[in-house]
Amino acid sequence: KRRNPHQPEFVQAVQEVAEDIFDFIEDKEDYHSEQILRRIAEPDRVVSFRVCWEDDKGDIRVQRGWRVQNNNAIGPYKGGIRFHSSVTESVLKFLAFEQTFKNALTGLPMGGGKGGSNFNPKGKSEREIMRFCQSFMTELYRHIGPDVDVPAGDIGVGGREIGYMFGQYKRITNHFNGVLTGKGLEYGGSLIRPEATGYGAVYFLANMLATKEMDLEGKTAAISGSGNVATHAAEKIIQLGGKVLTLSDSGGFIHDPDGIDLEKLHWVKDHKNRQRGRISEYAERYSNATFHEGKTPWHVTCDVALPCATQNELLGDDARALVENGCIAVSEGANMPTDLEGVHVFKVAKLLYAPGKAANAGGVAVSGLEMSQNSLRRSWSEDELQEMLRDIMHGIHERCLTYGTQDGGYTDYVKGANIAGFKKVADAMLAFGVV
Ligand code: NDP
Repeated sequence: KRRNPHQPEFVQAVQEVAEDIFDFIEDKEDYHSEQILRRIAEPDRVVSFRVCWEDDKGDIRVQRGWRVQNNNAIGPYKGGIRFHSSVTESVLKFLAFEQTFKNALTGLPMGGGKGGSNFNPKGKSEREIMRFCQSFMTELYRHIGPDVDVPAGDIGVGGREIGYMFGQYKRITNHFNGVLTGKGLEYGGSLIRPEATGYGAVYFLANMLATKEMDLEGKTAAISGSGNVATHAAEKIIQLGGKVLTLSDSGGFIHDPDGIDLEKLHWVKDHKNRQRGRISEYAERYSNATFHEGKTPWHVTCDVALPCATQNELLGDDARALVENGCIAVSEGANMPTDLEGVHVFKVAKLLYAPGKAANAGGVAVSGLEMSQNSLRRSWSEDELQEMLRDIMHGIHERCLTYGTQDGGYTDYVKGANIAGFKKVADAMLAFGVV
C-alpha cells in the first residue's frame, strides 16, 4: 500500500495472491532470498502517453493511454487493451499482474501485460472510434511487436477496434505480423477467438462440477454482463443443457424466468454488440422478463453463477445471498469480479469457486494459439481449436487441483491457480539470476 498509494485495485490483486504465495514459499529459501514475489509485483515498465484525436465536430480531444508490461519471464508480454471511462493506471496494473499468472497457467509461453485508455467509446461514431484507435496505435506501435508484446481486445475493444489498430500498425511499420490477437479471419485471426473466454469459463465450470459427479444439464445460471464473455458463456451453458436466467449491463440486470434461449441470445448479441443498445430493452421485448435498474443479478436463486462484466461487481453480501440461495458453483468470466470479502464467503462455504485467472484463461489461450498460427503462417480448423481449448481448460483445472486441494478433499481453486501460475514464472526468473 505504501509503495502504491491511490492504486486500490492493484493493491487488492497483489494482496490476494500474496496470501497464498507466502504459505507456499514459507520453506523455499530461493524464492525468499531472490525476492521473486516483490519482483513480479513491480511491473517491468509502465508506459503512459497522450492520445490526441479529433471528434466529428472538429474539436480536439485529449485522452491518456497506457501499456503496462508486467513480466516477460516466460514469453512476450501478452494481455488485452481496455477502452472504458473507468480505466486508470491502478486498474491496468492489477490486470497486468493477474494476466501474468493466468498466462502461465495456460501452459503456453506468454508473459503478462495490459493496456488501455480512459476513452469512453459509448456514443462515439464509427469515424471517431477509428480516429481514436489510429491515434492510440501511433504511440503504442513503438512499444509492441510479435516477439515483444502482443496486445488483444478487452472491455470496449472488439474486432472492429483491433482492425483499426492493426491497420494503423501495418501502415506505420510496413510489417504484417502477429502483433495483435483477436484479428479478423481475413487478416490472420483465429477461429473461436471471440467465443473462447466465455466457452472456456463454462468448460472450467463443467470440470469443477465433474469433481462432484455433476454436470450442467438442467442447472439454472445467473450471468452478469452482456458483452463478448457473457453472451458466449450463456451460449455454452445453453448448449450443455443449462438454463440462463439473467444478463446485465452497467444499467442493471434482466431476469427471464423462462430462460434466455439461443434465439433470445442472438437478439441480445445483435442489440448490445452491433446496435450498441441497452439490456433494459430485453424486458420490453420479452414479456415475462423483468429489468432491475442499478442492480446486479446475484440475489436471483440459481445453481451456478458466472460474473462476466467487470471487476468488483460481486460483493460480500452478494456472495452470501448466492450461498444462502443454494448456488453450488461460481466461475468468473470477468477479471476479479468478486471482492476480497466475497471470495472469503465462498471459501468458508466451500463452494466450487473458480477465480478469473483460471476460469477465463480460455481467451488468452486461443490468443496464444493465434500467435502460433501467425508464426506458422497457417490456420487450424474449428474442430482442432475447440479440442485444444477444451484440453487447455482441463489442464488448468488439473494444475489448480494439484496445488489447491487440501486435506479433507476441498479444492481452493484460488490458491491452486495462484501457486501454479507463480511457480512457473518464479522458476524462470530464478534461472535468469538477478535481473
Ligand atoms: P465487453 O465490452 O464485450 O462487455 C462488457 C460487459 O460488462 C458489458 O455488458 C458492459 O455493460 C458490462 N460492464 C462494463 N463495466 C461495467 C460496470 N462498471 N458495471 C456493470 N457492468 C459493466 O467486454 P468483455 O465481455 O470482453 O469483458 C468482460 C470481462 O471479461 C472483463 O472483466 C474482461 O477483462 C474479462 N475478460 C475478457 C476477455 C476477452 O476475451 N474478451 C478475456 C479474459 C477476461 P455496458 O454495455 O453497459 O458497458
